[in-house]
Amino acid sequence: MKTARLVKISVLGLLAMSVQALAQGGPPADNMIDGTLYPPGYTPMEIKNGVYPRVYAPNTEQLGPKEMRVTALGTGMPNVITGNQKASGWYVELGNGDVFMFDLGSGTMENLAKLRPDWSKVDKVFVSHLHSDHVGAFAELYIGGWMNGRYTPLQIYGPSGAEPRLGTKSFVDNQVKSWAWDIEGRRQGFPIAGGKVTVNEFDFRNEGVIYEENGVTISSFPAIHVLDGSVSFRLDWNGRSFVFGGDSYPNKWFIKYAKGAELVIHECFFTPAQLQALLGTPPVQATLITSYLHTPPQAFGKVMSAVEPRHAIGYHFWTFHDVYDEVLETVRTTYDGPLTLATDMTVWNVTDEQVVVREVYEDENVAPTGTTQAYRDAEREPPEVAADWISDDINAGKWDGYQPPPLPGQ
Ligand SMILES: [Zn+2]
Ligand SMILES: [Zn+2]
Repeated sequence: MKTARLVKISVLGLLAMSVQALAQGGPPADNMIDGTLYPPGYTPMEIKNGVYPRVYAPNTEQLGPKEMRVTALGTGMPNVITGNQKASGWYVELGNGDVFMFDLGSGTMENLAKLRPDWSKVDKVFVSHLHSDHVGAFAELYIGGWMNGRYTPLQIYGPSGAEPRLGTKSFVDNQVKSWAWDIEGRRQGFPIAGGKVTVNEFDFRNEGVIYEENGVTISSFPAIHVLDGSVSFRLDWNGRSFVFGGDSYPNKWFIKYAKGAELVIHECFFTPAQLQALLGTPPVQATLITSYLHTPPQAFGKVMSAVEPRHAIGYHFWTFHDVYDEVLETVRTTYDGPLTLATDMTVWNVTDEQVVVREVYEDENVAPTGTTQAYRDAEREPPEVAADWISDDINAGKWDGYQPPPLPGQ
């Protein structure tokens, strides 16, 4: 009885919406709220008395003026990207409306899409190093974000390497070159500026500010991992602080720059025995990989005990129950402070009063957020650029058994 009534109401509601759209002579206006595009029908609520809903439903909560929200888009490994665990990607939203990505690992775009962001704002990415589990989704954000609503260049901040060919600029330039066919075919129809990428490559040895805008400061400092060119970042804004460690052997720079920060993320890799068991890695290599190229759980705990963050976050292992439990037990032998061993789509809200850890309420049936009027008005190439994209002899092969509809208004 109750279900039938709900269905009836929703059908009536849909009818009312379409009548309204028809009356207005087209699709509904952009759902812009305080300068941000929300999916149709969503209005973010203010959190009252510091009491949050048990799970985070994307686009339903307004950030406070001093609040930071961080979402783990990916927490896993490069070699198995699954439905429930992508590689490294961290989405940071600030109460001033700014949005930042830290890392862009394989699979992270799928989880980012579930948040249904205003894609015009997802245009600043800070990459820790150039392993695929940290940058593998570059093309997906570059091209997908452009199609979804970004009408300004994608800005990539990343380290140099020992040689120019091993640096972020070379990585991005070659990625863009390799997507020539795709990009060429979107020159007409999509905003010109959104199809560009600006690379801000900085020295991997840098210790200090690489970004300063709108009250936000982001600094980089070196990490020690496989080759020269892994780095870590620290973001400061309005009393909030966020530190994101690139893959690394425990290093002095992290201890120095993460000291006393609020949300502090550092890799927490497998133990040698776990790597042997999971991948069949011989003992020497398992020890080298886990404990010389990465940071195993016991060392992660030591790092956090030295840093004493407001809240520590570890990631970069498969969260199978047996592995997870052992990693947690091992971390607890060396660190007893506030901690999350992150799984994908964990979300942290940080205010003066509290750090709230929750899960994202995920929907697999994700619709695009929509684009803004500014996106639709952004400059595009004229239709003539597409005139010769298909040769006359190929065009002449069109089957006359199909007639397309006439173009509206022509
Ligand atoms: Zn990694
Ligand atoms: Zn790595």
